[in-house]
Amino acid sequence: MHIGCHLSAAEGFRGLARDAVAVGADVFQFFTRNPRGGAAKPIDPQDVADFLRTSRERSFGPILAHAPYTLNPCSAKPEVRRFAFEVFADDLRRMECIPGNLYNFHPGSHVGQGTEAGIELVAEVLSGVLSEAKSTTVLLETMSGKGSEVGGSFEELRRIVDRVPQSQSGKLGVCLDTCHVWDAGYDIVGDLDGVLERFDAAIGLSRLRAIHLNDSKNPLGSRKDRHACIGEGCIGADALVRVVRHPALRNLPFYLETPQDSLDGWAAEIAFFRKAADGQR
Ligand code: FE
Ligand code: FE
Ligand code: ZN
Repeated sequence: MHIGCHLSAAEGFRGLARDAVAVGADVFQFFTRNPRGGAAKPIDPQDVADFLRTSRERSFGPILAHAPYTLNPCSAKPEVRRFAFEVFADDLRRMECIPGNLYNFHPGSHVGQGTEAGIELVAEVLSGVLSEAKSTTVLLETMSGKGSEVGGSFEELRRIVDRVPQSQSGKLGVCLDTCHVWDAGYDIVGDLDGVLERFDAAIGLSRLRAIHLNDSKNPLGSRKDRHACIGEGCIGADALVRVVRHPALRNLPFYLETPQDSLDGWAAEIAFFRKAADGQR
């Protein structure tokens, strides 16, 4: 299985690869720049070369870059959408230094304009920016539906995908976050098969390209989006083991976004899931 966690990019790609190896990961997620969306650090070719060597030696799976979560591509304000567009476009150009990986973003919040208007606007940004995604697959994240967030249901994500002409190419996919879908009201504890059937009917499982593996501090349908460490939340470790073992999901890359405060915590969670996934053979 491919499993890893969200790591800090403070020490470049080299640092990310080193930390991934240290926690027993063979994939990882990182923020492309600080969450406020400021300028990204210039790319250092030697840093990238070192990363690509480790990635080859360790047979890393897909690396997941996460856009700053403060961007709002469906804002009513044109300058806010413009900023999201420019950051996405710049990130996707930069991703070409590590070709063939994944780029995840939040659809954003419509803040009073209504879901339909939000869907139109995010699709517009996406249609403009996908020409920059040469080898990168861009992923819409499933959201908890808190506030006026767009993407709290599979049908909303489908409506975005349908409005993006480039989605035909398969370069537009979805990242399912277990905490977010649970908080949005999808019962992955009691009826994982049913939830995946609903995903398949609305979006198609072929678009599902990555899983954010998180427990949730809150009950089903709470619309809160507070991640918990594995086994310390309302989803529980057993249900998350069923996620990583599910035949429709087991070949996808899994990324932990649990609120651990040290690499040791993620190492333990990764070891736990590797053992659980092995247990079924
Ligand atoms: Fe996210
Ligand atoms: Fe997430
Ligand atoms: Zn979240």
